[in-house]
Amino acid sequence: MLNIDFYFVKQLLSKKSNIIITTHKSPDGDALGSSLALFHSLKHKHNVRVIVPNNYPDYFNWMPGNNKVLIYEGNEDKCDIWINNADIIFFLDLNKLYRTHTMSVVLRNSQAYKIMIDHHEEPEDFCDQTLSDPNICSTAELIFAFLSKMEFSLNKSIAICLYTGIITDSGSLRYPNVTSETHLKTAELMSFGINHSMIHQNLFDSQNKSRLDLLKVILINLKIFKKEKTAITFLMESDLINYNYKKGDTEGFVNLPLSIKGIVFSAFFIQFEDGIKMSFRSQGNFDVNLFAKKYFNGGGHKNASGGFLKDRNVEKTIEYFSSVLKEYLLKV
Ligand code: 5GP
Ligand code: MN
Repeated sequence: MLNIDFYFVKQLLSKKSNIIITTHKSPDGDALGSSLALFHSLKHKHNVRVIVPNNYPDYFNWMPGNNKVLIYEGNEDKCDIWINNADIIFFLDLNKLYRTHTMSVVLRNSQAYKIMIDHHEEPEDFCDQTLSDPNICSTAELIFAFLSKMEFSLNKSIAICLYTGIITDSGSLRYPNVTSETHLKTAELMSFGINHSMIHQNLFDSQNKSRLDLLKVILINLKIFKKEKTAITFLMESDLINYNYKKGDTEGFVNLPLSIKGIVFSAFFIQFEDGIKMSFRSQGNFDVNLFAKKYFNGGGHKNASGGFLKDRNVEKTIEYFSSVLKEYLLKV
């Protein structure tokens, strides 16, 4: 869906405004990269704040503008003042307002002009303008296109942020939705003299030891449903405590079972204090967006989605999972 009026938004951005840029809970590289790229583009003319719902992993702390990001959780009063004074709010890398978590109430009530830029399926209709393309692999690519439509020039900081967004959401340019256009955009970003090798090192070779300890556990817990071409694994809250889990430690774990020959669907369950968070990944035609939406209060993309259940019983959740999986496969 491309129902954004670029001319209108360009006019809107031509006068100095208070602008908030926000994104989804537990921001990833695309969420942060897109938000910070837009921040760097707007900061000279406007009062801009990036406010994210909660904290994010330390391995994003090197990103240009990281020290300007406000975390809503724990700073609610200060952030509410910013949000209530905003003229314009950008919602990046999210398709539903609830994905802003505890920020959603103040955001919904805000009188600001709202603009969504996102690549998830079925965007909710709560913004004044929506730039949504579920076929594109990252929101960062859409921000690239948006900046070009606004005739804003890029610089090295913006290039670093957009490159990070594209790389993290495309599995380092490997997922099926990567196009020649993605490569062309990435090449243009590299022409700003960014150190791509250092960015990869910062993102992928800066992990905690706790990550490898937890990796051992998910490999032990791995279960294969051969007939269903499905693999599942899980972590209990006690594993998180024992191994000193830190945010981001489990990033990418859900992809690992897909490396087994014949497996087209992988599910990963984590027991947190307030419920079970699940991540789904698939290859080919198995639609995990639909699966997450139908059975796990979630959503996302065709090959990558997530959901959440308030019930903390992992065994029961896996039983439920295996029964709905059979039902789902019978119907497709
Ligand atoms: P992850 O497994 O990395 O948490 O999420 C994979 C994809 O699914 C991401 O694109 C994320 O935005 C989306 N996603 C994860 N959890 C939820 C959820 O609870 N609701 C919706 N609508 N999307 C989700
Ligand atoms: Mn994204």
